[in-house]
Amino acid sequence: MMNNCIFCKIAHKEISTDLYYESDDVIAFADIKPIAPVHILIVPKMHIASMNDVDCTYSDVIAEMFVTAVQLAKSQNIAESGYKLLIRTGSDGGQEVPHIHLHLIGGAPLAEDIQPR
Ligand code: AMP
Ligand code: ZN
Repeated sequence: MMNNCIFCKIAHKEISTDLYYESDDVIAFADIKPIAPVHILIVPKMHIASMNDVDCTYSDVIAEMFVTAVQLAKSQNIAESGYKLLIRTGSDGGQEVPHIHLHLIGGAPLAEDIQPR
């Protein structure tokens, strides 16, 4: 666990959230500032700062994050209507929390959001 990391604190239950999924390695919870009717963050419990730190040793946990996203899309009834999966990385990517998180966003038509800011 990384000191002062908000998602490590959530993973270790030091901060409570609206939980959607939990296993030994992954936790999923509601985004505190949702941008769509469904906006869930899927997070490895282990501190991984960004995609730049991912290598094959993390393949199992990265796969579990994506499988969890699909299962949640189905359980939230947005699988058929569609959704976005988003991982921001670094400054130009707009990453605000330096602990990897996969956004599951859906439940309404989503505006194009990959224009340069
Ligand atoms: P990103 O810009 O990809 O790093 O996204 C960070 C996301 O974390 C934003 O959508 C925030 O609304 C969300 N967030 C920050 N703090 C919390 C929190 N305590 N609980 C839930 N979501 C949070
Ligand atoms: Zn962390």
